[in-house]
Amino acid sequence: MNKPIDAAAASKVILSQTEQHLVGYMEACLHCGMCAEACHFYEVTGDPKYTPAYKLFPMARAYKRERSPLSWFGLTRKVTEEELKEWEELIFDSCTMCGRCTTICPMGIDIASIVGQARKAFAAAGLGPEDLQAAAENSRDHGSPLGLSPEKLMDRVEWLEDDFETEMPMDKAKADILLTVSSIEAMKYPDSIVAMAKIMNTAGADWTFSSKGYESTNFGYLAGRPDIAKLMVTRIVEAAEAVGAKTVVIPECGHAYGVMRWSGANILGRPLPFEVLHITEYIAKLVRDGTLKMKPFTDAITYHDPCQVSRRGGATQDARDILAGFATDFREMDPTGELNWCCGGGGGVQAMARAADLRHKVFQLKIDQTEATGTKKLVSACANCRMTMDESKDALHWDGELISLIELVADALVVGDEDGDGDE
Ligand code: SF4
Ligand code: SF4
Repeated sequence: MNKPIDAAAASKVILSQTEQHLVGYMEACLHCGMCAEACHFYEVTGDPKYTPAYKLFPMARAYKRERSPLSWFGLTRKVTEEELKEWEELIFDSCTMCGRCTTICPMGIDIASIVGQARKAFAAAGLGPEDLQAAAENSRDHGSPLGLSPEKLMDRVEWLEDDFETEMPMDKAKADILLTVSSIEAMKYPDSIVAMAKIMNTAGADWTFSSKGYESTNFGYLAGRPDIAKLMVTRIVEAAEAVGAKTVVIPECGHAYGVMRWSGANILGRPLPFEVLHITEYIAKLVRDGTLKMKPFTDAITYHDPCQVSRRGGATQDARDILAGFATDFREMDPTGELNWCCGGGGGVQAMARAADLRHKVFQLKIDQTEATGTKKLVSACANCRMTMDESKDALHWDGELISLIELVADALVVGDEDGDGDE
């Protein structure tokens, strides 16, 4: 953040964005500090500035200085440019909006939602990391944060269909399921897109991609840009309505799921006209009802719960139900499920170049958790976690392996009566 800041103007904008329930959170905080050790940024640095409660302070201080009775008599100090810079790092670079602190807080204070609101306030005041803002603007102008335009998506799908001999319907007139993608997968992990298609086809699903609404990530939400957040939700909703989809399946991306599933209707301003399922929820249903069968996978593996799918998404058991069906040596890491440690790159932190060193420090937690299970094979269901961990794995020279859950499933699929049990 090198540009000059008008701290007084920024402070006013921040205050104008401060919603009443957030003031309630600020006043409820007991300053007990219990949340500190729940946060991976504090855990790996020991720096008290990363205590989650501290992230309340941008709004709390601005509020006290501008609106409290003392401020009426001019007895409070104004917010300074230095403080704004310090807060920017706290609410953008060092909060993945993972929600782990809220599970520990005796007052149930939802720091992640406060950070989301504070980001909106900062963005409205013209502040915030430029690369995160650019990712949001790319989504608005080109369809996706990584430049996956509709034309590029169609090219890529055609190429993948040919190379992997897997049918991938695009722009069908009608379909029960609209399958979305994350541009991280399309640009970095295209095997995941093939894996989703193989699973859908094996299940006999009536599905389609749409070139009108395909990008499930929502950097408008992460960057604090509500106009872009709404545009991204609207594209998918309109595409789903056009094909009459009853279900929208979100790929291996945690925050894409969280935004559409829990905030989509509020962002849109009306109920979503379809059910939203993360791909692990969709596959788990197929496994539970016997539609999908997999050959045994015998290597020792452990599982990283993406925060927005498990802790904040509630779909913790689905990955277990999938793995129980075929991973014969599955080992839970500790802590796991709703208490799992974040990868360090959620909440848009992955897109902030200046946060890379801090992210890599956080990944040491994941290395330790993985190795404590006696394996170096780490499975997960979020392409953003995967990219974060891939980068940190290289930076820390870790020789472990990161595996996508849906790719693991697709590789193990039993197609037709391949297993010779008489069932197709
Ligand atoms: S939401 Fe996660 S990253 Fe943010 S303060 Fe809480 S524990 Fe830390
Ligand atoms: S645990 Fe909750 S009440 Fe205690 S300091 Fe943290 S946010 Fe405040």
